[in-house]
Amino acid sequence: MARVTLEHVTKRYEDIVAVDDMNLEIEDGEFVCLVGPSGCGKSTTMETIAGLTKPTEGTVRIGDADVTTLPPKDRGVSMVFQNIALFPHMDVYDNISFGLRLRDYDKEEIDRRVDRAADIVQLEGMLDREPNELSGGQQQRVAIARAIVREPAVFLMDEPLANLDAKLRVHMRTELQRLHKQLDTTIIYVTHDQAEAMTMSDRIAVINDGRLQQIAPPLTCYNEPANLFVAGFIGSPSMNFVNGDLANDGLRTDHYDLEFDPAAFPLEGIDEVTAGIRPEDIYLERNTESVVDPSATIEATTDVLEPMGDEIFVYLSLDGSSAEMMTSDEASTASNQLLMSVDPDETIEADQQVSIVLDRSKVHLFDAASGEAITHGVADESVHEAPTADAEGGATEVESGGQRD
Ligand code: ADP
Repeated sequence: MARVTLEHVTKRYEDIVAVDDMNLEIEDGEFVCLVGPSGCGKSTTMETIAGLTKPTEGTVRIGDADVTTLPPKDRGVSMVFQNIALFPHMDVYDNISFGLRLRDYDKEEIDRRVDRAADIVQLEGMLDREPNELSGGQQQRVAIARAIVREPAVFLMDEPLANLDAKLRVHMRTELQRLHKQLDTTIIYVTHDQAEAMTMSDRIAVINDGRLQQIAPPLTCYNEPANLFVAGFIGSPSMNFVNGDLANDGLRTDHYDLEFDPAAFPLEGIDEVTAGIRPEDIYLERNTESVVDPSATIEATTDVLEPMGDEIFVYLSLDGSSAEMMTSDEASTASNQLLMSVDPDETIEADQQVSIVLDRSKVHLFDAASGEAITHGVADESVHEAPTADAEGGATEVESGGQRD
């Protein structure tokens, strides 16, 4: 077990800033996912921790030791990557045990660890196969087992499940969480898949353009996103956004007004506000009794319906325009459209006039210019304030709900 700390870590490749002034503190035994879109700097951040790349500036610590210039083998870390490098002429047993044999562990201990790891990743009965007799998914499981047997202080995983089929990926998520519980090892896990990050981690570090956007427990990122980027990235389908002008009694958008008392929120000096509302926080007016603090009624036309089994996604048009050209990404930003989710047993059809309400206690406000969150909830009794930005990096540490103890 070890704590991992990044202090002002920057990595430049000529004119590309892959990692930009990253500050991260990952606790002993914590499971943290680095999540963000492709090219945002997740892998490079991981590589600075692994020792595969040296930061241009800043310090990396594992435990109390400054490891910024130490080679990977001296850091007490084990790595698993998406692209697997197995020894082609060694069988699975030898591949998994290679590191242990180098370190002269006795045969009994090696057998014990290999058997346990093989059991965890479901490779029992395959220990005498060579890599070319395994599928891509099975090869990746060998790579994970090879890291497991080393029982490292820190486990580094870069998209290790990306090549597995969907069912095995879900199974491996559970197994990795179980493994984490058993070993009590610090795990740092890179993924572009926000659902994977949400389901596995104690905390998520959301990264964009090389910069840390927010590090917080998954539900805090979901319910109290620090900025527009986190709000749009976490959650699928994405949050709906609409820009509006502030008035004395709320926000005026192109197709509806959202009433609240602007004086109740820190809105001074902010000209344009972006409101955000998740699909599940929009309701048919006939179901208003279940809404804590409903907005005024908004008239809409149902456009496309997507029945998902456990819910139905309903694309709504606020001006009668067709959604022919609309994709789910556009739906989240176009002011004349909203994406709503309703119960699967709801009677609803395409091209139907509907009255909807927004749950005001779930409406987020952001400064449109900076993207920073202003408030999460505009209901009258709402006293929620947005987390204050960290003066150094603009990143936000939110310490509430679901935090490891
Ligand atoms: P992610 O893992 O989030 O997809 P990376 O950390 O791999 O992102 O890359 C971040 C940025 O740094 C990208 O723009 C990428 O092209 C660039 N980059 C990564 N490695 C190198 C390298 N060795 N040389 C030049 N640019 C690199």
